[in-house]
This record gives sequence, structure tokens and C-alpha cells, in this order.
Amino acid sequence: MRAAIFRGPGELAIEDVEPGTPGPGEVAVEVRAAATCGTDLKSYRRGHPKLFPTLPARFGHEFAGVVTEVGDGVTTFAPGMRVVAANTAPCDVCWACVRGRQSLCENLIFLNGAFAEQVVIPAAIVQRNTYEIPDSLDFGAAAPLEPLATVVHGMAETGIELGDTVVVHGAGPIGLMFVKLSVLRGANVVSVDRSAWRLEQAGQAGAVETIDISGLADAAEIAARIKKSTPGGRGADVSIEAVGLPAVWEQAVQTLRPGGTAVLFGGTPKGAPFSVDSSDMHYSEYTLKGVFHHTPRYVRTAVDLLISGRVDGHSLVTETRPLDQLVPSLEDMAAGRGTKYILTP
Ligand SMILES: [Zn+2]
Ligand SMILES: [Zn+2]
Repeated sequence: MRAAIFRGPGELAIEDVEPGTPGPGEVAVEVRAAATCGTDLKSYRRGHPKLFPTLPARFGHEFAGVVTEVGDGVTTFAPGMRVVAANTAPCDVCWACVRGRQSLCENLIFLNGAFAEQVVIPAAIVQRNTYEIPDSLDFGAAAPLEPLATVVHGMAETGIELGDTVVVHGAGPIGLMFVKLSVLRGANVVSVDRSAWRLEQAGQAGAVETIDISGLADAAEIAARIKKSTPGGRGADVSIEAVGLPAVWEQAVQTLRPGGTAVLFGGTPKGAPFSVDSSDMHYSEYTLKGVFHHTPRYVRTAVDLLISGRVDGHSLVTETRPLDQLVPSLEDMAAGRGTKYILTP
């Protein structure tokens, strides 16, 4: 079968490999749709020691498909079932899991290999983070389950209340999901980005106002412009960073109202500090929250959102392409031509 094989930064190709056979507790799935994500792009460019400790390795982790074979002991899935799975499962025994912080699990079990005709889901992920999906949910709409689950996690940390003003910094796929879910929570959402094309999508996702900051001179000007769109010019009740740049983390904090909460969501490069005015932090009683990854609870909520149609997975996708377009699609993402592609084997 054909599968994407990753050999190191910049070295990714579709090759012929042997399909896997499911061991005890595992499930083999014929992939019908696999989605590209920002993590794929980062890994392709720079490598990713946590996701790819050994090379060569299979590549891709957002997918949906049809079960073809199940390993010994699997009772909840059977051949022919349409399924979607998250990219990891927590171990449930380390200190973090025991304390209910499964996103911080020290022994996360990863799945790689979604960009392929077939993938075998590890037993731990079969048990905790794999779901049957109805015919009404397209494979392509279900594939972006993992990022949606992380956004559901982020939402749980926002404390958004009815009528709150929420500023979402960044209108890529993650930012758009935050816009959509904040609207579902009853917030007035302001979307901020540097691309008119992405802001148009944020408007479609329900943002009451979109702000293009591309022409503004500096951080102070940007913060002033954003605050102007909040009640009384005080700032956002909740500010969500969905870009992954320290400057935007700072922007998210600088646009809070006194007592506001910033959810700093976008992953930044290692060793990249960001700064907060300690006096503002003190006198304005800000709450700053870092959010990473997801937990089985948030994965389940994300599956429910997709099945009910309250979140349309298709709305996050730029285009559907054949599997051999994987590398060109990552290049298009790097060039800002698209944000998320569905690849079909
Ligand atoms: Zn992903
Ligand atoms: Zn654990």
C-alpha cells in the first residue's frame, strides 16, 4: 500500500510499504480522509523529537475511515464500521493522569501514519479515543477531530459567560474553531488577523467584528485598535491566542480588560519568552492560562460537536486532494495559500 514516510526535515515522500496487521487490542482502518495540520508542517520543516523519536516513520495523525480488521480482544469495533480516532491516548497511571491532568500525561501514546491507505490504531487509543461515526458525518468533516478536541479543551479554560466579549487572535483553522465555539457559548466575538481572506472566514463563523491589523505600526497601536472594539474600550473579557507567536501572546494579554482571562493556546518555538507588564498583571488581576493538547473527555465532546453538525469540519478545510499531493499541500500551507487540506488515499 502507499503511505507517507518521513525521513527527516524536508524529506517526506509517498512510498510503497507493507500494510500493518492489528495486534491485540488494535484496529486496522482503511483511511478515507486524512487532514494536514500545523504540527505536520512544523514536523516536515524542523522535525519533531517528541512525535518522531525514531526515523524513518509513518506520518499524519488526523483521519477518519472504515475498520477493515480488529485484533484479539477488540469487542467495540468491527469491520465495516466508520470511525474517527484522536492522535493520542493518555496512560491513565502516571501522576498527571491520576491528578486528572491527562493532557500532561508523561506517557502519551501517539498515532502516526494517517497519510496512507491504511493505518493501525494503537490499543490505548482504541480504548479511550476512538469513536464510531454515523453515515451523516463525512470522513473529511470528521478528520479534524484532534484540533477540535484541543480547542474544546481551550474553551473549558476560558470561563466564557453569556454576553462576554471574546477577542480571538488569529483566524487560521484553530482561531476559526475558537470563534465558532465562543459564539456557541453566547459570546460577542472579535476576530483579529493579518489576512483579509482568513478574516472573511471568521465573519462566516460568526464573529461580530473582524479587525485586519496588517497596516498597523506597532504593538501599542494594535492593542489600542483592538480595545476600541470592546465595551467601553476596556478590553476583552477573554482573549484567546491562536497563532503561536510570543508577540501575539503579548497582544492577547495587552488587550484584556481588568480581571480578564487570556488563554494562550498557540504553540511557540522552544526558548521563546514573552513578557507581561508585572504592574498590569498585579493591578488588573489578569488570569493567564496555558493550554496544551486534549483529554478523552474533550475528544468525546468534539466528536459530539461534529456528529451534531454544530461544528462543520468542512468549514476548516481549504481543499480536498489526492494523497500524492501531501508535500505540495504542506508547501501551500507554508506559503499561506491554504490552511488545511484533506488528502484522500
Ligand atoms: Zn493535528
Ligand atoms: Zn499518564
